Amino acid sequence: MSKSATPPVLRFAPSPTGLLHVGNARTALYNALYARRAGGTFILRYDDTDLSRSTSAFAEAIAEDLAWLGLTPDRVERQSDRTARYDAAVERLKQIGRLYPAYESEEELETRRLSRRRRGLPPIYDRAALMLTDDDRTRMEAQGRVPHWRFRLNGRRVAWDDLVRDEQGVDTSTLSDPVLVRADGSYLYTLTSVVDDIEMGVTHVIRGEDHVTNTGVQIEIIEALGGVAPVFGHHNLLTLPNGEGLSKRLGHLSLRALREAGEEALAVAALAVLTGTSLAVEPVASLDELAERIDLAKISRAPARFDPDDLAALTAATLHGLPHEAVAGRLAALGVGGGEAFWLAVRGNLARLTDAAAWWQVVDGRIERGAAPEDADFLSQAAGLLPPAPWDGSTYAQWIAAVKPASGRSGRALFHPLRLALTGADSGPELKALLPLIGPEKARARLLGESA
Ligand code: GLU
Repeated sequence: MSKSATPPVLRFAPSPTGLLHVGNARTALYNALYARRAGGTFILRYDDTDLSRSTSAFAEAIAEDLAWLGLTPDRVERQSDRTARYDAAVERLKQIGRLYPAYESEEELETRRLSRRRRGLPPIYDRAALMLTDDDRTRMEAQGRVPHWRFRLNGRRVAWDDLVRDEQGVDTSTLSDPVLVRADGSYLYTLTSVVDDIEMGVTHVIRGEDHVTNTGVQIEIIEALGGVAPVFGHHNLLTLPNGEGLSKRLGHLSLRALREAGEEALAVAALAVLTGTSLAVEPVASLDELAERIDLAKISRAPARFDPDDLAALTAATLHGLPHEAVAGRLAALGVGGGEAFWLAVRGNLARLTDAAAWWQVVDGRIERGAAPEDADFLSQAAGLLPPAPWDGSTYAQWIAAVKPASGRSGRALFHPLRLALTGADSGPELKALLPLIGPEKARARLLGESA
């Protein structure tokens, strides 16, 4: 993925028929980050030709979920706006004799498939429609039969050098001639995708390995339309922890649900692209860093399990390394102040970003729980030894250096009552960092057991 002379053009092409899941995110990220790293273009293309299942609400949700991941497309397209281009491609394929009308009903096709199976033949379309004469067609159309249209495959081995799987090939003589236009005139994805990829100048198509066979067919269609085939890469698919495939329809591991559960977008992104590769799954501080890390050649061949339990740990680890500027807006939305000093003090203790609000309460608000009564004398002695303001990162060490000899306490007997009195909690961020944030007035009041 080095900077190439001509910047690459990549696309993510979901059908807006459900919410994106982590497997879809994997595809989106591979494409978007490839483009980002090479200074190329990333297109979001809604494959919405199936009007009965596509909705604008899902299209909006997809854009929102991608934005949450940090992906902003350079261009957005909808196949439903591009019908004229598909009409033109269909005309061209008809003219060059690569698209032919076929009249079989679904039931007829099924009967033929069964009969081929019984005879030990592959259950592919037998091309009976290619034998029809003009008279046959006229007669059938007079009977009210409306054709669907099939692309006549060359029946050869189509080979390509796959970015993930190296040498790949599909023998199109083993496949049915694909239907590109349904009897109702609507177009199938196999056609529309190819027309768009040619017209949009797509140079690289990275998608799931469930599309390998499609790629053989699509390369033939691209060539028939006079286009240049893009470079293809087919990544392995993610599954649920039990090995079951992810389904958009069933709402498995949707980005939306992960976001609502408080997972960090960068952790989801890192796990979605690094799972199922030979690369270590480690937190990243930005998508640029993730873009540098990914390597398509390191993607495994077998499907990979995506475990949401790994995500919780990666969310925490991600937060622990994020700089303040990466979270400042979200902290402000949670009502958390304290700037960078507060963030650096607490980030190592967070499991979710929202946990920062509780620590902000400790610093800026009131605490619920105070120290044990038997420590009251010790704590008032400690209050008397608090160093004079202004406080900074060295204040805590100075204070402890005075409290320790004066009280004769050490270890847990020294530190635990101080922490409990100052924060109301048994554990948490380093007091060295919290003390200056709590400040002299609150610290003194809390040590003295006054409400604060
Ligand atoms: N709409 C197709 C899908 O979601 C796009 C596949 C492709 O990338 O060409 O599977």
